[in-house]
Amino acid sequence: MNTGVRTRSEELYERACELMPGGVNSPVRAFKAVGGTPLYFQKAAGSRLTDADGREYVDYVCSWGAIILGHAHPSVISAIGDAASRGTSYGAPHEGEVTLAEEILKRMPFLDRVRFVNSGTEASLAVIRLARAATGRNKILKFEGNYHGAVDTLLAKAGSGVATFSLPDSAGVPSDTAANTLVAPFNDLQAVRALLEANAGQVAAVFVEGVAGNMGLVPPQPGFLEGLKALCNEHKSLLILDEVMTGFRVSVGGVMERYNVKPDLTIMGKVIGGGLPVGAYGGRRDLMEMVAPLGPVYQAGTLSGNPLAMAAGFATLKELDASAYARLESLGNRLETALRSAAANVGVATQVQRVGSMISVFFTEQPVTDFTTAQTTDKALFAKVFHGMLKRGYYLPPSALEAWFFSLQHTEEDMDRTAEAFEASLREARA
Ligand SMILES: *Cc1c(COP(=O)(O)O)cnc(C)c1O
Repeated sequence: MNTGVRTRSEELYERACELMPGGVNSPVRAFKAVGGTPLYFQKAAGSRLTDADGREYVDYVCSWGAIILGHAHPSVISAIGDAASRGTSYGAPHEGEVTLAEEILKRMPFLDRVRFVNSGTEASLAVIRLARAATGRNKILKFEGNYHGAVDTLLAKAGSGVATFSLPDSAGVPSDTAANTLVAPFNDLQAVRALLEANAGQVAAVFVEGVAGNMGLVPPQPGFLEGLKALCNEHKSLLILDEVMTGFRVSVGGVMERYNVKPDLTIMGKVIGGGLPVGAYGGRRDLMEMVAPLGPVYQAGTLSGNPLAMAAGFATLKELDASAYARLESLGNRLETALRSAAANVGVATQVQRVGSMISVFFTEQPVTDFTTAQTTDKALFAKVFHGMLKRGYYLPPSALEAWFFSLQHTEEDMDRTAEAFEASLREARA
């Protein structure tokens, strides 16, 4: 679509690059994995995003899962407006925190207590400290391809095979920090057992995305989460279920409800803020009571429990009853089936994987069960399909290894048209 005329997005990107690293405030937005210039957006409503040039897109990013009701949902907007009219921050307790905490604990009965922070990353930092304090151990076990925020301890991946001590995945992470991180392949209980045995008495916690959504969508295999819980019990390590992406997206009570797994601690974010910056952590009462001011584990935040964010989160959860999840399931099923036949029509080997309103298309013949198999997806083909979809008015996550999200405002019509555009983009990419 090179008309020789610069788009407003291109102009903004050029200015942004002189102001912010890579022109963005979070790396994946920069289109590095797919090439081209990132789009800058001016507004969003329902299932649609409008870019700075006025072009409209069906949104499959939905703010990385946060926007489950669709953009600018009237109840969320009015809750935010009402809260804002009463002041934007008090730095002191208020009713909105109590109301949202009650709603979360009602939906996640395995949690006894919760604390609000401002992002998933912050929640992650807090539970690592808490787990270490509670167990008197330092090591954390995580899974390759799972993401738990931009946290030193968790920015590690395995080398070849299961590394005992992993290398940091980011510059600036001290090697002694990375040495406290153990990494196992997702869905591999044998590897977890081996690591826990090799580091007996040293592993404070096992962190897991129960449904992995940050290497594309990779569901847990039957027995994986139960097995993990049993191994944690056996080794007296805490199980930390990361529900930042899945919480209140995959069911009324997240992964813990959908798969009936009881974590010791959990972290949340995204949906619970209804598009405003929120995170939370919660879990067993005895553990949560170790947090200040009741206990010795310090954690604090000037804007934590922000009135606007609490109001947006509560208004969002209020709309999410059993029928909302049934609706998302049915839309998802329609999209999944249509994408599968689209790929089959073009004759491209794909794995379409879905849990609720999170879905991924891997261009590979191999079943995708972990990071290694996720990496077999044809990334060059994805980059072409991504741009084909963009041209046709569909905004997919700008990386082959990210899940796609949709909202309650997406329609059957959207799903069918999306699959048609996908088929056309795939044909074009292969031509
Ligand atoms: C997004 C995400 C995080 C980090 O949350 P931020 O709010 O971006 O800091 C942590 N864990 C998972 C599973 C996520 O998807």
